Amino acid sequence: MSTLSTVRPGDTVRITTDTSTEPFWRAAKERRLVAPRCAACGTFRMPPTPFCPECRSTDIDWVELSGEAEVYSYSVVHGFPGHPDLLLVAAVVDLAGAPGARLVTNIVGIDPGTVEIGMRVTVDFSPISDGWMLPVFRATEGR
Ligand SMILES: [Zn+2]
Repeated sequence: MSTLSTVRPGDTVRITTDTSTEPFWRAAKERRLVAPRCAACGTFRMPPTPFCPECRSTDIDWVELSGEAEVYSYSVVHGFPGHPDLLLVAAVVDLAGAPGARLVTNIVGIDPGTVEIGMRVTVDFSPISDGWMLPVFRATEGR
């Protein structure tokens, strides 16, 4: 019997936004995955930062991504404080269409024993506190 990975209960996940990160979260609320790209030199920067690490520009273009990604690294988490039965796959994914941009996320709905580095995943959105949505990823169909 396999048990599928999940996410922390949404009401236990709270985010704080600031002017650098709020566009990311506003897009997620609309089930869109976006990443900030420096408007001066084209470098993607995730997590969002006020200044470009390459050229120090503060100009940003928010680029809408396809939602496709590849697993760069992952860890299987058995139990979480207050939730001993929780099974999580914590992962870092490379975002397609945004070279150099990676997102820390969860891979959901999968037998953790089948997760592999380099596997293709597709974004989904999971409700969290205060009406926000958390980007998570599922194995891409037909991969
Ligand atoms: Zn730049």
